[in-house]
Amino acid sequence: LLAIALGCGSTKQNIASTKQGLPIDRKVDSVLNLMTLEEKVGQMNQYNGFWDVTGPAPKDGVAADKYEHLKKGWVGSMLNVKGVKDVKALQKIAVEQTRLGIPVIFGYDVIHGYKTISPIPLAEAASWDMEAIEKSAGIAAAEAAASGLNWTFAPMVDVSRDARWGRVMEGAGEDPYLGSQIAVARVHGFQGDLGEFNLAACVKHFAGYSFAESGKDYNTVDISNNTLHNIVLPPFKAASDAGALTFMNSFNELEGIPATANAYLQRDILKKDWGFKGFVVSDWGSMGEMMAHGYAKDLKHAAELAANAGSDMDMESHGYIQHLVNLVKEGKVSESNINDAVRRILRVKFELGLFDNPYKYCDEAREQQTIGKKEFHDGVLDMAKKSIVLLKNDSKNLLPLKKQGQKIALIGALANDKTSPLGSWRIGADENTAVSVLEGLQAYKGNQLVYAKGADVALGDPKFIVETKINMTDKSGFGEAVNAAKGADVVIMVLGEHGLQTGEGRSRSELGLPGVQQELLEEVYKANPNIVLVLTNGRPLALPWAAQNIPAIVEAWHLGTESGNAIAQVLYGDYNPSGKLPMSFPRSVGQMPLYYNHKATGRPGNGQPTESVFWSHYIDQSNAPLYPFGHGLSYSKFEYSNLKLSSPSFSEKGNITVTFDVKNNSNVDGKEVAQLYIRDIIGSVTRPVKELKGFEVVEIKAGQTKTITFTIDEKTIEFYTANKKWEAEPGDFMVFVGGSSATSLETGFSYGKDAKP
Ligand code: BGC
Repeated sequence: LLAIALGCGSTKQNIASTKQGLPIDRKVDSVLNLMTLEEKVGQMNQYNGFWDVTGPAPKDGVAADKYEHLKKGWVGSMLNVKGVKDVKALQKIAVEQTRLGIPVIFGYDVIHGYKTISPIPLAEAASWDMEAIEKSAGIAAAEAAASGLNWTFAPMVDVSRDARWGRVMEGAGEDPYLGSQIAVARVHGFQGDLGEFNLAACVKHFAGYSFAESGKDYNTVDISNNTLHNIVLPPFKAASDAGALTFMNSFNELEGIPATANAYLQRDILKKDWGFKGFVVSDWGSMGEMMAHGYAKDLKHAAELAANAGSDMDMESHGYIQHLVNLVKEGKVSESNINDAVRRILRVKFELGLFDNPYKYCDEAREQQTIGKKEFHDGVLDMAKKSIVLLKNDSKNLLPLKKQGQKIALIGALANDKTSPLGSWRIGADENTAVSVLEGLQAYKGNQLVYAKGADVALGDPKFIVETKINMTDKSGFGEAVNAAKGADVVIMVLGEHGLQTGEGRSRSELGLPGVQQELLEEVYKANPNIVLVLTNGRPLALPWAAQNIPAIVEAWHLGTESGNAIAQVLYGDYNPSGKLPMSFPRSVGQMPLYYNHKATGRPGNGQPTESVFWSHYIDQSNAPLYPFGHGLSYSKFEYSNLKLSSPSFSEKGNITVTFDVKNNSNVDGKEVAQLYIRDIIGSVTRPVKELKGFEVVEIKAGQTKTITFTIDEKTIEFYTANKKWEAEPGDFMVFVGGSSATSLETGFSYGKDAKP
């Protein structure tokens, strides 16, 4: 039937026409015309994996229902099935046993690697290196696609301002501009040319999820339309423009309407204004959750609301499969809404080539040859080194380490952990497969290395570690750690969060070191202050004592499979660190949410101390972050000078260029991320005190100076104005450049009709 409908000649012809993007719409329609209402609704139904294909087919319970539905063609997609063998067995049922043989699309959370794990996305964002990030997503896609998968639930592009939220690890940090560039790089990396080593991307969570009140996952979101458009939406828009094939909605409400039933987001903005042609999948069970939200009275009502609002596929709520046919028959959901959703889903399957070859991803030999390839390990190692941020290296210059004749004490449970570095959201990987810091350092043989654990970080089932601070009081290892430190020239302490203390459902109310690690740090410091603190964590931490006292601090996040090798190479100076923070690091949790691109207040001082008490501040804490957005040091020393504009102003359709010099005033070659910020002084709605508008990763040899150039035009200064559209407003602007958001140089320009070019 399908072949006739598609007017199939040879498979090759179909691939060719699909690739040229010729008649996909017509193909989609010819399939749609064959479908019964039940089959259409089936395409909108996504089930979690239910059957271990090595065993007998399920006979009862939910699994048996799912199995029957699959055979009837009532399952459009499945998630959490992996491995060619399983995917192939299930796909065979869809293709060979159902009436129309429409292939299933197999989705999986390939967030930062599949088997060979890259740094967590927040860490990758610290590289500010779009080429590396795209490559890393490409590696993840290649392995996952070889394992039978078609579709990843990534990238997460939620702009994150609150480090208490456990999922900050999964995004690109606090800035919409950087976040947009990274969203594009990841979409390109995953999707490539939609070949056999690519996956469809899924941009999530649409929208507002990261603004959960008090950083508590799944909590209420209440943000203005202004924040929605200027801060939250830009990375989503960029990903959609980059050709992302799918979107995922989110668990939160927005303006009192759960995102899953939010027509403003899904229909008006995404599908109408942005012209998005792919489909929207609900988040896991988010349709059903609308009952608990107090928005839907039962699952049937929830299905009605979601379908009418433009949620095209139901992830595991079972709302569509149970109720949508009746809802259409009762006239509560129009068949044209169903057709729209199904067209979108079929279109993505066509784009992926699943109709041309449903077994495109099911090649056992390819699976074996691809997973864990050496070049993938090299790739994730490269990404890991680029993700490391040197936060501090004071005049003691403990870093880089000397390669010979040193006694090094290595302390901390996380130094000898081969699972934690894999971070959260790496469900395809095997436990214990990361290179630990201990192993990484052991590769350098010129020094003597002693290891002492000191204290545990967390208790509990390693698959589901939750905050266990209350239980973590065991200090029995302190003595051994202190002794090791006493006899050492340099102490390396690896402290922070376990990989599974971050991620979904792992919000924290405190941002210090979990357990007794802070006490351990202070005890060891008393014995030997020559400490290099290596932090491994999935969110900004508040470590004011360490920032004040510890001579060298390295932010090493959760860096994935090659973690220990990357850290050792940076500590020993074989790689000169160049990462910059994609999120502000706070002094205390009370500063949350903390972000550099905040608004000015109406109060004197505008965030700077004044004589009066009535300015916007805390009486017990500075306003400033501990380490600002964009901060990161190098073994080289960079100096900024000579900031110039090509003209003091520009008018419509014009532009100006900004130039400045960066000098590497050291005897080590290095890399710097030069950053450009602007401030729009007066706007029709208030504007942030600074906004990132450009950056360049630039290699500068020892002693050399490089001139950096940026162009500022209307696009650069556009924002979502009081007119409720993106436009450039005439007025005066400031320009700032430097190596972090605490920039070093500034000047100004004006833009407008009367401005002279
Ligand atoms: C998460 C999504 C994820 C989905 C499927 C949900 O709980 O919020 O980001 O893709 O589960 O695993």
